[in-house]
Amino acid sequence: MKLKKHLGQHLLVAKGVIARIAQLIEPKEDEILVEIGPGTGNLTKEILKHSFRELHLLEIDRSMIESLEKEIRDKRVKIHLADATSFDFCSLGENIKIFGNLPYNVASLILENIVFHHRCIPQAVCMVQKEVAEKIQKGSSWLSMFVRTFYSVEYLMSIPGRFFLPPPKVQSGLVRLKRIHNPPQLNLEDYKSFLVGLYSMKRKALKNKLQEDLLKSVGINPMERVETLDPDRILLLYKLEKTKGGL
Ligand code: SAH
Repeated sequence: MKLKKHLGQHLLVAKGVIARIAQLIEPKEDEILVEIGPGTGNLTKEILKHSFRELHLLEIDRSMIESLEKEIRDKRVKIHLADATSFDFCSLGENIKIFGNLPYNVASLILENIVFHHRCIPQAVCMVQKEVAEKIQKGSSWLSMFVRTFYSVEYLMSIPGRFFLPPPKVQSGLVRLKRIHNPPQLNLEDYKSFLVGLYSMKRKALKNKLQEDLLKSVGINPMERVETLDPDRILLLYKLEKTKGGL
């Protein structure tokens, strides 16, 4: 099969690594699993060795779907022609576990979509570019903060390019997102806009983005930059801005 670069098609081919990733995904008997970008099904077939309730495959490429339909005959599996950047995950169940070797060109958009559906996604184990994995886990960006407001992020392992076909230029990283206990109930679109604004022009002092009084009321020096704030303080600022009406 001819692989399509614009769809981020780098297939994971190393058996040992695939088995290790499947162990880390840890399917459980009663779980509804969702795989994003199954491709030719290398990881899928390894997951099928485990027990679980249902497995939904979300794939955007028709030719991949055709080969999956030929190769995978398992009553627990349902194949969807779907775009994971906008798919309504909650249509599949109330407690789903997502996993996948994400297409790297849209990995951030898929992570964003996971956050938008966090109410039905207690856990996700995703492979992304190593740099993206590290940024999400500890970097300073609106997306990292958006993810970490609802999930704790664990970096599980790095996967060198040689384990893929064709090998990507960059290393990959596997991350586990675990939804935090009692995640805050927020208007997600509004919270996202707040974060995007806060993280634009990162080198500008916070006083250019939020009222000085608001910053001082929670003990933040208005000259500080957004990078110095931890997730708790950002969430606090967001909530205060909503109640007081900020900029
Ligand atoms: N999981 C496979 C393939 C990973 S490559 C393996 O590890 O071998 C990424 C896969 O995601 C490709 O099959 C590609 O067609 C698919 N894909 C790309 N964009 C997508 C999107 N927006 N939604 C769903 N799948 C997508």
